[in-house]
Amino acid sequence: MALKPISPLSASHTLGRGQGGALARTSSYQEEIHEFTEERAARCIMPDEMSRPLIQGRGEGGSSRHLEATMSDPATPVVGILGTGDFSRSLASRLVASGYQVVVGSRTPKRSVALFPEEAEVASQMEAASQADLVFVAVFPEHHSTLVDLRPALAGKTLVDVSNSLHINQKGPSNAEQLANLFPESSVVKGFNTLSAWTLQVGPRDGSRQVFLCSDSPTAKSSVAQLCRRMGFIPVDMGLLSASLEIENIPLYLFPSWRIPILCTVSLFIFFYLYNATRDVLQPYTTVGKSVFYKLPIETVNVTLPSVALVMLALVYLPGLCAASLQLWSGTKYNRFPNWLDRWLTRRKQFGLCCFLCAVLHAIYSLCLPMRKSARLKLLSTAFKQMKEGKEELWVDEEVWRMELYVSVGIMAFGLLSLLAVTSLPSVANTINWREFTFIQSTLGYCALFMATLHTVLFGWNRAFDPGQYRYYLPPTFLLVLILPLVVLLGRIALFLPCVALRLKQIRRGWERSRHIRFILPDNDNRNGLEDVSNV
Ligand code: NAP
Repeated sequence: MALKPISPLSASHTLGRGQGGALARTSSYQEEIHEFTEERAARCIMPDEMSRPLIQGRGEGGSSRHLEATMSDPATPVVGILGTGDFSRSLASRLVASGYQVVVGSRTPKRSVALFPEEAEVASQMEAASQADLVFVAVFPEHHSTLVDLRPALAGKTLVDVSNSLHINQKGPSNAEQLANLFPESSVVKGFNTLSAWTLQVGPRDGSRQVFLCSDSPTAKSSVAQLCRRMGFIPVDMGLLSASLEIENIPLYLFPSWRIPILCTVSLFIFFYLYNATRDVLQPYTTVGKSVFYKLPIETVNVTLPSVALVMLALVYLPGLCAASLQLWSGTKYNRFPNWLDRWLTRRKQFGLCCFLCAVLHAIYSLCLPMRKSARLKLLSTAFKQMKEGKEELWVDEEVWRMELYVSVGIMAFGLLSLLAVTSLPSVANTINWREFTFIQSTLGYCALFMATLHTVLFGWNRAFDPGQYRYYLPPTFLLVLILPLVVLLGRIALFLPCVALRLKQIRRGWERSRHIRFILPDNDNRNGLEDVSNV
């Protein structure tokens, strides 16, 4: 007698989750026992059968495989996946590895069966929808509407929408909200869309571990969160399904907070590069016919990089000064800053890191300068020329001192910038308290700005007063570069003046010029630091 294959998925459903009632469950249970006894008997007759693996291989031309009941834990839900694409395959492997029973629903199960792990069952979409308790919809959102026939089978179940859109959706509705409209009797959970198929395949040890979830059904959301944890990921509750638009947009953003800082860095680089090239390369060529185009790849870049770095560092501290000035001017901290200032204040870290990148490149370029053949030849020819002119001593005390101080201050500035960059990393910033963070980012940051400014002043030295430096009537680059940092440093000094500092401190603790409330700094006799004098 040919043995009928046992489908533990359907068995467990009939037994534990079936809708047929106690009677139906009893009769189907008896059938199962009967079949099981027959199978045991057959195995006794055919000992070879004992060597077969518990989990069946793919049958010849079979379109679907069935899970063995042995692995099932009655508390473990059967997880369904609709779609057999890249995401579905990776998700199925991860779920199987986490001990779940998986049933994959395909329009063409026969074609897709070979792509899935042995332990997963590949069936029709209807079979998968009816067998599973929780269903992942791994189908592009354009095709969600083709699944409406599954509505009765999916009623009362949890649907996980993993879809992403092609473009950032600003207005909504989100894919998940549209799916919820298509399946009003199911509970839709948005999630897993921020994980790539690759991350799912290699597991949570590599790549992002966070999974953002949202749903209008707390029960559905918590069951998906539990599944998430069992797979080794960290669920992050984002609230109701209305948050799904934000979750769907996450993978589509292209460095949103970096756009302006990068644009600023690139624009400054282009400006200073062209400015330096005009002064140092074009001017000698057009006036005396001297070709120094070889300077363009290294020397010109190396003069441009510190210029960009210093201006960018000044741009980190300038918005803070603007905010303080606005507060002093309006006499309150409760007026909203203009949008541009708000955005600038929140991008200071990115400005700082762009500055750090330029400083690192400047340090590397500077270390490589003496390695160049042009530098060695220039040195030799200068020495040769000096000898021909009968000068033996090349030592100029002032030049030596200038250079020593210039390099030393530059190294200090670079060290402080490195400290600022390291403490801006979230993992490091989380280990220090707010006061420590502001001490490093503000006090040491201003020290870095001061050192970098001094580095530039020492570079320029007395060349600002040399008329030969004003080629094409253009001032030397270091003079242009110094304007903004000097403004910021002087502004900071102005804020240190006791009358200004005290007023700013009062404003930041809630004092307002236009209100009839006298502000007193808190002390033991005064509970809130505020004294109502509105009757005065
Ligand atoms: P895919 O490889 O193209 O697979 C999509 C699957 O959808 C097909 O294999 C197909 O399986 C099924 N499907 C069902 N109805 C369909 C229809 N009417 N027309 C076309 N296909 C239909 O796509 P994927 O990369 O796995 O992505 C699936 C979903 O996961 C998408 O919503 C995507 O945004 C999301 N996602 C993917 C990734 C990723 O890294 N790939 C990451 C995050 C999110 P059958 O032919 O077997 O039915």
